[in-house]
Amino acid sequence: MRRREVLKSISALPVIGGAAESLTGAGLKPDATPDYFKELGLRTFINAAGNYTTMTASLMPPEVLQAIHSSAQQYAMLDDVQDKVGERIAKLCRAEAAMVTAGCWSALVIGMAGVLTGIDSKKAAKLPFLEGSGMKSEVIVQKTHANGYHNALTNTGVKIILVETVEELRKAVNEKTALLWFLNREAPVGKIKQEEWVKLGKELNIPTMIDIAADVPPVENLWKFNEMGFDLACISGGKAMMGPQSAGILMGRKDLIAAARLNAPPRSGIARGHKVNKEEIIGMWVALDQYIKRDHKKDWETWEKSIALVEKEVKSVRGVYTETIIPPVANHNPSLKIGWDPKVIKLSRDELGKRLREGSPSIEVISWEDPDSIRITVFMLKPGQDRIVASRIREELKRSVV
Ligand SMILES: *Cc1c(COP(=O)(O)O)cnc(C)c1O
Repeated sequence: MRRREVLKSISALPVIGGAAESLTGAGLKPDATPDYFKELGLRTFINAAGNYTTMTASLMPPEVLQAIHSSAQQYAMLDDVQDKVGERIAKLCRAEAAMVTAGCWSALVIGMAGVLTGIDSKKAAKLPFLEGSGMKSEVIVQKTHANGYHNALTNTGVKIILVETVEELRKAVNEKTALLWFLNREAPVGKIKQEEWVKLGKELNIPTMIDIAADVPPVENLWKFNEMGFDLACISGGKAMMGPQSAGILMGRKDLIAAARLNAPPRSGIARGHKVNKEEIIGMWVALDQYIKRDHKKDWETWEKSIALVEKEVKSVRGVYTETIIPPVANHNPSLKIGWDPKVIKLSRDELGKRLREGSPSIEVISWEDPDSIRITVFMLKPGQDRIVASRIREELKRSVV
C-alpha cells in the first residue's frame, strides 16, 4: 500500500469522523467516511475533563492510527510481535525488558503474576489459588497508597498488607512476602518515598513495583523509575501518551518480564482475558515513540495559553474566580478551577455540567469536585476548542447572574 492510500483509508476511521453516511444495509464503499457515532446515535463531545476511561480517555494521533491500520493487514506470531516491540520499548524507556499489556491495570495483574510464578508454567496454571502452591502470597503497600488500584494485584490471589512506616514494613516482611508495591500518584503523601522503597526492596531481597499509570508528563518518568531501580514499572498507554486506550506497558527486569509473559496471552491462564493484538502492540510502541519525540515545552506553552484564554473569558463574569491547579503527580498539566459566588450566580455545579453536556457542541468538564465550581483541563482539546469551551462556560455563568 502506498502512503497516500494508507492515509486515504485511515480517514475512513470513525475517530476522524467526517461526512455521515448510513451503513445500514449498505456495503462500505472504499471512499466512504462513515460516522459511526451518528449511525449509532451516540453523543460525541469536546473533552475538557481529561483522561477518563468513562469518556474513552484520549484520541490517538494520526501516526498511531496509521500504525494500527497498516499492521492490521498482515499476520505475525503474537509472541514474536511482543518480543520485537518489547525490545524497542525497553530501549526507549531504558528498561531491561518490556511488554505491552491491556492497560496499566493489566500490567499490574500480569506483572504480579510473573513475580509469583517465575518461569514455572505449572505455577502459572494454579493462579489465583495460592494456598499450598509453593508461591508467595503477600504484597506490602503503604496505607495511603491503597486507594483502589492495588486491587488489581489481588486478581492473582495475593493479600495486601498495609503499613505506614519503615519499621512496620520491616515487621510485616516474612517468607510469604512477594512484592513491595508503590503508587507513584500518592508519593507526596506516603511516609516512605520512591528511593527508600527501592532500597528496602534490594536490602530485603523482595521485588518492587511502581504504578505510574497517569504520570507523564513529565516525559522523564518513562525511564526515571527504571533507572532508580524499581524491578517493574506499569503505565497506561491511552492516557497522556495517546496510544490505544486498551494498551499499557509493563517494563523492568528481564527475568520478571519473561515470567510475566508466561502468564499473558497467547497462553491461557489468569490474564488470557487481557489480550492485546499485534496492531495494538505496534500502535502502543508508535504512540510511545511519538510521545517521546514531542516538543514537551511547546505542549506546555500551548496548554498555558489555552488556560489563560478560558480564564480571561470566564473571569469577565461578575462573581467568578479562577485558580490554576497543576497536580504534582499524575495528570501533571495545568488545569483551571472555575468557581463562583453562589449569591451572585444562581447555578449549581451539577446543573452547569449538565448544561455544557447537553449544549451544542456537547462539552465534558470536571463537575464533581468542589461545590459552586467546575474544573477543566485543556490537554485533550483539539486546536480551537479552547475558544468554544471558554465561550460556552461564560455564556452559562452569565445567564445565571442574579
Ligand atoms: C488509570 C490508572 C490505572 C489503570 O490504568 P488503565 O490503563 O486504565 O488500565 C491504574 N493506576 C492508576 C494510578 C491509574 O491512574
